[in-house]
Amino acid sequence: MNNFINAQTKVEIQPKINLLGLSKNELSLSLNRLGVEKKELSMRVQQLFSWIHVHGKKSFDEMTNLSKEFRDQLSNSFSIYRPQTIDKQISKDGTRKYLFKSENFGEFETVFIPEDDRGTLCISSQIGCTLNCSFCYTGTQKLVRNLETYEIVGQITAVKDDLSDWVLKKNNSSKRAISNVVVMGMGEPLYNFENIKKSLNIIMNNEGLSISRKKITLSTSGVVPNIHRVSSEIGCLLAISLHGTTDEIRDKLVPINKKWNIQELINTLKNYPNLSNSERITFEYVMLRDINDSLDDAKRLVKLIKNIPAKINLIPFNPWPGSKYQTSEPATVEIFSNFIKKAGYSSPVRRPRGVDIMAACGQLKSNSVKIKSSQNKNN
Ligand code: SAH
Ligand code: SF4
Repeated sequence: MNNFINAQTKVEIQPKINLLGLSKNELSLSLNRLGVEKKELSMRVQQLFSWIHVHGKKSFDEMTNLSKEFRDQLSNSFSIYRPQTIDKQISKDGTRKYLFKSENFGEFETVFIPEDDRGTLCISSQIGCTLNCSFCYTGTQKLVRNLETYEIVGQITAVKDDLSDWVLKKNNSSKRAISNVVVMGMGEPLYNFENIKKSLNIIMNNEGLSISRKKITLSTSGVVPNIHRVSSEIGCLLAISLHGTTDEIRDKLVPINKKWNIQELINTLKNYPNLSNSERITFEYVMLRDINDSLDDAKRLVKLIKNIPAKINLIPFNPWPGSKYQTSEPATVEIFSNFIKKAGYSSPVRRPRGVDIMAACGQLKSNSVKIKSSQNKNN
């Protein structure tokens, strides 16, 4: 947000609140502070929320059922600024990768993956990551900062702008380009829990973007203390980046395993609230040649997840500059996958998308680096 001291007048200019990041309750409080009367509040909240999240309006002047005076008041105190696209690449398979710059500092990536029956937006939760999984490109970028709520919601807003995906009839969901959201971009979402929770609650609101909780999947590397909160405080689907079946291997691949090991992770998942066959946990398993792709691994995997309603998503490793792993042979993946299927689990192999533009799983990274707070005038 813009927050700076004007050197000549020494007057501090207050930052404008970005409405993209406000829940309905917060919007109500902010409008109340602006002087909107109590009896009018709920109607005003309804109108604004709909203009912003259903119609995708970019400026208050376009909100035609509000008086000119009220619109001026709104634009003096608030913004609906979305992340600005500084680079956009379109893969030959139709996948789109956006590099965004926020009004705040730093850059982050978002990927749109069109499929026949759905359109999935893969959003980032942080710039960089504190964890450094050895097969992940994002992990080579140190954490710069957590993304703010308006930047997380803003990724959807900005891509909807680009795809002209604003519909006037909000129930016409079959026509929406973005039908699904996965929190699988840059960063570890459970280390930015409050902002992710607030953002997902905003995008699920059925008077706004109205993306149903079952069309949203949050992926974590295994931040055990926050896992149950995904069900109890957000309600979206959960994916776990497992990738290894012994602590020895997983310590190397997903170093957070040294803090919460496989047994602790699995115990937490066995008690995960509201688990059922229709709401299974997805286990993500990146297939690395000769590292974790043997039949013994497959056997251990099936043993580990016994009694957990689950599906296993096998991800062929996506290489990046300097990566030290190789993708498993297709025949090895097939043997692995067949074993899991025979044990009764669905085990789709994730088709890599957008590889030619480095938009596939684990290939996202930006050039942003952490700057000293004294240099960060905009924060
Ligand atoms: N930080 C979260 C979410 C982002 S990563 C997490 O780790 O779960 C999304 C998925 O991509 C994770 O399962 C991650 O392990 C996987 N991934 C990372 N790098 C990859 C690579 N190079 N090839 C294939 N999958 C990768
Ligand atoms: Fe971070 Fe996830 Fe990449 Fe690991 S896989 S470094 S947790 S983004």
